[in-house]
Amino acid sequence: MALIVQKYGGTSVGDVDRIKNVAQRILKTRSEGHSLVVVVSARSGVTNELIARAKAINPNPDTREMDMLLAVGEQETIALTAMALHAINIPAVSYTGAQAGIFTDQVFTKAKIKQINPKPILKDLKEGKVVIVAGFQGINDEGQITTLGRGGSDLTAIALAAAVKADKCEIYTDVDGVYTADPRIVKTAQKLNEISYDEMLELASQGSKVMQSRSVEFAKKYGVVFEVRSSFNFNPGTIVKEEVAYMEKVVVRGVAVDKDQAKVVISGLPDKPLAAATIFNALADAAVNVDMIVQNVAHTGGVDLTFTCQRDDAQNAVRVLPAVLKKLGGGEVASFDNIAKLSVVGVGMRTHSGVAATLFTALGDKGINIQLIGTSEIKITVAVDRASADEAYRAAHTVFGLDKKS
Ligand code: ADP
Ligand code: ASP
Ligand code: MG
Repeated sequence: MALIVQKYGGTSVGDVDRIKNVAQRILKTRSEGHSLVVVVSARSGVTNELIARAKAINPNPDTREMDMLLAVGEQETIALTAMALHAINIPAVSYTGAQAGIFTDQVFTKAKIKQINPKPILKDLKEGKVVIVAGFQGINDEGQITTLGRGGSDLTAIALAAAVKADKCEIYTDVDGVYTADPRIVKTAQKLNEISYDEMLELASQGSKVMQSRSVEFAKKYGVVFEVRSSFNFNPGTIVKEEVAYMEKVVVRGVAVDKDQAKVVISGLPDKPLAAATIFNALADAAVNVDMIVQNVAHTGGVDLTFTCQRDDAQNAVRVLPAVLKKLGGGEVASFDNIAKLSVVGVGMRTHSGVAATLFTALGDKGINIQLIGTSEIKITVAVDRASADEAYRAAHTVFGLDKKS
């Protein structure tokens, strides 16, 4: 008999029939003799709908009120899931994040989990109940509801698996597992049997939304092995775990694309110490999360500084930078929000050379221009025009031999 944490994402609890399907799957797991903690997301689309409604009322909503609002989505599905279990005679109880003892820091809309007190959950499990926990939410020290950032139910599941010392953690979604690329865009993508934490983390943070990147970071830190599976079939999924030596044999494990990027170009910046520091401090104060950065000496004198960030952040950058440049003695800002970034990821890159050359050639052969380049030990990222993002995605997938054999 094992203790299993299962997480069902938005599509898996998207309507009444799907919630009943989740109840049947829980019944099956219980009949195999296991006990369960189940984390559920809001119905798919509900969180987006709530955000849109908030913004229609106030374009800059207070973040405390935002979390108060967003927590509603998951509160609906936990109660309905518990009711679906009661209807088939399974004892179950639903908990909000606060009731489940999930304590976070103070940062509304992207709070970090500080601590979980699993006592109430363990007591219910002992009494034979299935415990249903609302994903994506917690409570801070002041008793306020917080949320954990978009896709945060993954984090709830992984953190709970660590807190209750679960034997297994299963993330149920609407695809069979983690693929070499998003199977909805790259039809030839293949399911991976396993992937290392570091590769999953890079893919997630570069735009592959199958797992929230912070949840993978947490899993790595606490050694939570988890499996990504489909809630619509019983196929084996993808195991995400610590790297093992044979994983390096594959050069590129997967490809990710993020189409919500912008590029900000500062030209004619005075070439002096602390200029870059002043700029990036101001951007940090304005909560602009900078990604790739390129600086070079301009032929007109001064330097040109280009960086990428999420599309939403670019407006903030353009708002704060003119005053900073004035203080520094010159420079102009322009932003381009038609950018996508494409990343190829694999732990094999540490031991294989020529990956960048292969990628750049494949893109060049399709006439795709590379605007910026960034690298890490196990990743190469390029910024390209959004219009060519899907073509670049497929070309990278093909050139590294990831296409499914037909
Ligand atoms: P959930 O609501 O269950 O959390 P998400 O929509 O957040 O599900 O994530 C699942 C989606 O992630 C899939 O439907 C798929 O389109 C997308 N996705 C992106 N990259 C990948 C990938 N490499 N492997 C599998 N799915 C991916
Ligand atoms: N409902 C939240 C979101 O849409 C959390 C989640 O689905 O994981 O971001
Ligand atoms: Mg998700």
